[in-house]
Amino acid sequence: MTGFRFCPHCAGELQQEDHGGFARGVCREDGCGYIHWDNPTPVVAAVVEYDGGLILARNAAWAPGRFALVTGFLERHEDPAEAVLREVEEELGLRAVQPPTFIGHYPFERMNQLIIAYHVKAEGEVVLNEELAEWRYVRMDRAKYWPAATGLALRDWLRGQGFDPQESALPPARPE
Ligand SMILES: [Zn+2]
Repeated sequence: MTGFRFCPHCAGELQQEDHGGFARGVCREDGCGYIHWDNPTPVVAAVVEYDGGLILARNAAWAPGRFALVTGFLERHEDPAEAVLREVEEELGLRAVQPPTFIGHYPFERMNQLIIAYHVKAEGEVVLNEELAEWRYVRMDRAKYWPAATGLALRDWLRGQGFDPQESALPPARPE
């Protein structure tokens, strides 16, 4: 069971029912009929290439030592390729020097998200916004990946560049 327990429209208790082969929360109150579809949320992620290496960042909400990709939600009507550039600019203060290139889609089941990953080659001076606590410059030949959605995107991009990244635990405690 995932998602809400109560109906966001009438506060009735949701019943778990099968809809199209998936268990969904359904409101059976008179005149309501709300269905919590629980569809994944799309999230863009950036493998940021910078000065010949990569930038990994620690979200302010994460434990010290955890660095991963810059990510963000789409705005209404926003193209993912535009969203990823906006996120890199907002969170790192960097501008892309060429259009982003699509890496792939990666399901992130724990968060019920679909990661839409791009490579963004960027330049400028790094200025973090309030979402990020710190950043690390990582050499491409030393970058490790973690076995979760954004880490797999990083792995696939590095492999495409001819590197053979090693797996580490969840976002590396301290990229070398
Ligand atoms: Zn309801």
